[in-house]
Amino acid sequence: MEAVLNGDSKTITIENKTLRAVKCEKCGAKMYPTSLLKPHLYRHQRRHRWFVTELRKLQYTMAHMRDMA
Ligand SMILES: [Zn+2]
Repeated sequence: MEAVLNGDSKTITIENKTLRAVKCEKCGAKMYPTSLLKPHLYRHQRRHRWFVTELRKLQYTMAHMRDMA
């Protein structure tokens, strides 16, 4: 019986380690191992830059349309 209980506590310890995974503050995705967060955040940055570029194009078009009217 004791051996079984020890085995259970070992399983809980492993689960605690898994819970230490980092959470991305931008999309809430959980990363494990923690080293995965860096390339993940880089992907967020690239996506954000693309969005800003597209938004600027749209703003330029809108401003141009206002000039025409
Ligand atoms: Zn994320």
